[in-house]
Amino acid sequence: MKKGIALCLLAALCLFEYVRTGSPDQDPYLITDYGKLHPVKVERIVKGKEERQLVGLVKEAREKGLTVSVAGQRHSQGGHTYYEDGIVLDMTSYNKILEFDPAAKTIRVQAGATWGDIQNKINSSGLAVKTMQSQNIFTVGGSISINAHGRDIRNGSMIGSVESFRLLAPDGQIRQVSRTEHPDLFTAALGGYGLFGVITDVTLHLAEDEMYRMSTEAVTADRYSSYFRERVLANPDIRMHIARLSVAPESFLTDMYAINYTLDQAASLRQYDALNTRETFVGVKKLLFHMNRLSGWGKNAYWDLQQKVVPMQQDKRISRNNAMRSESEFMEYRQPGKNDLLQEYFIPVNEFSGFVSEMRKVLQEEQLNLLNITVRYVNEDREALLSYAREDMFALVCLFHAPLSAQGQARYEAGIRRVIDEVLRHRGTYYLPYAPYPSLEQFRAAYPEQAEFFRRKDRYDPEGLFMNYFYAQYKGE
Ligand SMILES: Cc1cc2nc3c(=O)[nH]c(=O)nc-3n(C[C@H](O)[C@H](O)[C@H](O)COP(=O)(O)OP(=O)(O)OC[C@H]3O[C@@H](n4cnc5c(N)ncnc54)[C@H](O)[C@@H]3O)c2cc1C
Repeated sequence: MKKGIALCLLAALCLFEYVRTGSPDQDPYLITDYGKLHPVKVERIVKGKEERQLVGLVKEAREKGLTVSVAGQRHSQGGHTYYEDGIVLDMTSYNKILEFDPAAKTIRVQAGATWGDIQNKINSSGLAVKTMQSQNIFTVGGSISINAHGRDIRNGSMIGSVESFRLLAPDGQIRQVSRTEHPDLFTAALGGYGLFGVITDVTLHLAEDEMYRMSTEAVTADRYSSYFRERVLANPDIRMHIARLSVAPESFLTDMYAINYTLDQAASLRQYDALNTRETFVGVKKLLFHMNRLSGWGKNAYWDLQQKVVPMQQDKRISRNNAMRSESEFMEYRQPGKNDLLQEYFIPVNEFSGFVSEMRKVLQEEQLNLLNITVRYVNEDREALLSYAREDMFALVCLFHAPLSAQGQARYEAGIRRVIDEVLRHRGTYYLPYAPYPSLEQFRAAYPEQAEFFRRKDRYDPEGLFMNYFYAQYKGE
């Protein structure tokens, strides 16, 4: 009874906070990204419309000595899509489907197309994307430029599904790039953070859409590696997997649950292939997630609730396309002064429990407000120059709630650097699209190929036409 009253009071408090303020924390004269960190003034933002216009823009920037930053949905969080006084090329309206060959299982799209656009095109042909993020809102150009990954555990990171792309280079020429044409640009621009030119269009390999049966299981952090190796990876019918670590004080980074997507040959794809288009109960989920932001008590209640809700998905049937368009709206945060910021750590499979127990200590000491950790798997893939999976890795996606003030950010930076020290001690890496808390030394230790990456950048773009804060922060001297 008491618990119920407390829950109602907390929910009312959350509601009050939401009603009180709801406006974005962005100055209309400055530009930033999903992170809302480091807003700056840019020369102008140009919407990409047609190829000739893009070529003209690059030439104009060269002649006037301006820089160009390329932007998709701007969901990266470290100033990767803009630079002070430069031109921002917004590719989101450069989004046509150019060619679709169901028999060859390939599709060619303009780089501003989203995964949602692709799913809408290919779903009725019984095809699906091979590798993408958990959500379908991102652009293809932005996703291959960070070499994204998701719930699929069989196809590696995104670079594996790219056949070729065309690149508008700093000299104003468009080059066809593949594993055989300009291969050094292929491995640098995929995961190249927009620094090698504008990716105008991309040819991707597709997979069959399939039916999955979901199953959920409780597991603990110290057993997770063996559980995953023996029960998940060893079963070739399990195609997708995700796990969640508790951030509730009562079970902090010890309790977990896993969700597996197992091929279900008996189920008819036809019956389940209508694409989910609407998120349900967004308001209620928003409120509950906000409770998780506000207090340890809220975190315990939110985790308890997940323990009740997740088993309800047991034996649920879902198509691959629907499993790859998960809900995200309820996590959106739009109040001023604070934000939810992602960090992601890649840890070799056998190092998982050792790393998690060190991370637990650091986070408890630093008292950072951690809202969520999901765990995925990416198999070894060294093709991209800035590869984050130099061996088979678990990816721990951590969502923190952080103040945006200079003082608050300094605290987060110090805490995250301590976590990164542990990542490096466990032979791990971290993901580069997020807030640039890691130091230059930590970046260099995590990405030994970075020197070659920047050499190649300077060779292809000696005047630094394509510029962003990732380059500014991590090129070093
Ligand atoms: C809520 C949320 C969930 C996420 N989930 C996942 C996940 O499950 N898995 C995962 O791997 N990542 C995830 N991410 C990270 C996300 O995949 C990246 O931030 C991705 O870049 C977003 O795509 P975008 O269209 O917003 O790209 P942007 O952020 O706009 O751009 C990213 C980079 O690509 C460059 N770029 C964009 N378009 C082009 C182009 N046409 N040519 C050349 N360069 C270009 C930009 O310059 C920039 O450096 C998540 C991020 C958020 C905020």
